[in-house]
Amino acid sequence: MPPKKKEAKDLISKLALKKMSAWDLFDEKDEKQIASFSQKYIHFLNTAKTEREAIGEVLKQAKKQGFKDISGQKNSGNKFYQINRNKNIALCHFGKKDISQGIRLIVSHIDSPRLDLKPNPLYEDQDLALLRTHYYGGIKKYQWVAIPLALHGVVIRSDGSKIELVIGEDPADPVFTISDLLPHLARKTMETKKIKDAIEGEKLTVLFGHQPLSGNKEEKERVKMNVLRLLHEKYEITEEDLISAEIEIVPAFKARDVGLDRSMVGGYGQDDRICAYTSMEAIFAQKEPLYTSVVLFLDKEEIGSEGNTGAQSRFFEIVVGRLIQKARLKPEEGLLREILFRSKALSADVNAGLDPNYADVFEKQNASLLGYGVNICKYTGSGGKYSASDASAEYLGEIRRLFNGNKVAWQAKELGKVDEGGGGTVAKFLAIYGMDMIDCGPPVLGMHSPFEVASKADLYETYKAYQVFLAKS
Ligand code: MN
Ligand code: MN
Repeated sequence: MPPKKKEAKDLISKLALKKMSAWDLFDEKDEKQIASFSQKYIHFLNTAKTEREAIGEVLKQAKKQGFKDISGQKNSGNKFYQINRNKNIALCHFGKKDISQGIRLIVSHIDSPRLDLKPNPLYEDQDLALLRTHYYGGIKKYQWVAIPLALHGVVIRSDGSKIELVIGEDPADPVFTISDLLPHLARKTMETKKIKDAIEGEKLTVLFGHQPLSGNKEEKERVKMNVLRLLHEKYEITEEDLISAEIEIVPAFKARDVGLDRSMVGGYGQDDRICAYTSMEAIFAQKEPLYTSVVLFLDKEEIGSEGNTGAQSRFFEIVVGRLIQKARLKPEEGLLREILFRSKALSADVNAGLDPNYADVFEKQNASLLGYGVNICKYTGSGGKYSASDASAEYLGEIRRLFNGNKVAWQAKELGKVDEGGGGTVAKFLAIYGMDMIDCGPPVLGMHSPFEVASKADLYETYKAYQVFLAKS
């Protein structure tokens, strides 16, 4: 017998998956908290535009929270940090249970797509000084021309001393830019080409100066000489010093509120600093976690997690090794492996939010929506889950119970349509230790663009999700 009208309504509310905007769950107090949380996040985005700056900011805040250098023999307590080459940091908080029971780990990345200067960047052409770049990560090249750019980085001088540069962030600073071709003359050079070929990588050269060095007018390359003079005057660096340097070109504009209702945050590098920031705040919020909490910030995710600061390096093993020593357990290889095997982890990374302009690249039933909370992504990968770390139904069940039991707004969606493209995260590189691992982070619009957009509701729900994961999973 088919159910009556009232019964049918009850059945739907009992059986069907509920879809509810996180905004509808908030009261006035929540909204105030979200507003102040978002402001602090915007400040973080503006002070941490590179991986090194993110480490600096995390370290500064961690010290204020009582975290101590794990390398210090005499340092005691239950909160420690370890840094790797100024590009990774691990924050660790010992739990009530012995560390041999495993760790609760949240991993994010703090590198973002950008333009790096080449080892020999500076040249002069048509009385303009320019810098050659090599782009880093998956950028759409047309997004990097005709916008104000800032220069961030470090230079190691010939005597080994190090200088950190930031030019273009202070309102009194000059900025830089990459000139774009005027539409009047772009018909053959650009407009008939595929968008990815319209601007060649070699044409992403940064406008750096224009005034020639005064004095001998017979000299060659006087514009280049003049900027070298200015660099030396201000920073005591020479052209050769630029070889032992890491200088990144990033958007010069600031992160800020988006929308008349101020419901969103726009800014550079939210992939993945939104997860870095929320996971940092989540470990700071721990009073006495059950298991040992570790929040790990990694580099080089955008180019495949390679090298000695990427997820494929053994840095995390070193961190856990030191934790074992701090816990006064025998530093044995077997114990290390057991701890890693018994751990549970979130790969904290952003997902693509459904963009109404490009809805057809998403499969709507499985696309994350802005404002519907943190997204749990069972698997990533492309071309048939290729290269994915596919979380188990059991682990997904645990995470779902955890979030439901603690009133965290969450959704469980994929990146886009099957065969449309795809992507990966650090999940698979840590899952090889045998720990439970799942991708979990907020959706963003315009991922990898100079101005990515996230919902403040999702920002806050992501923080809550990470907080309860560390405290209660
Ligand atoms: Mn990412
Ligand atoms: Mn990315």
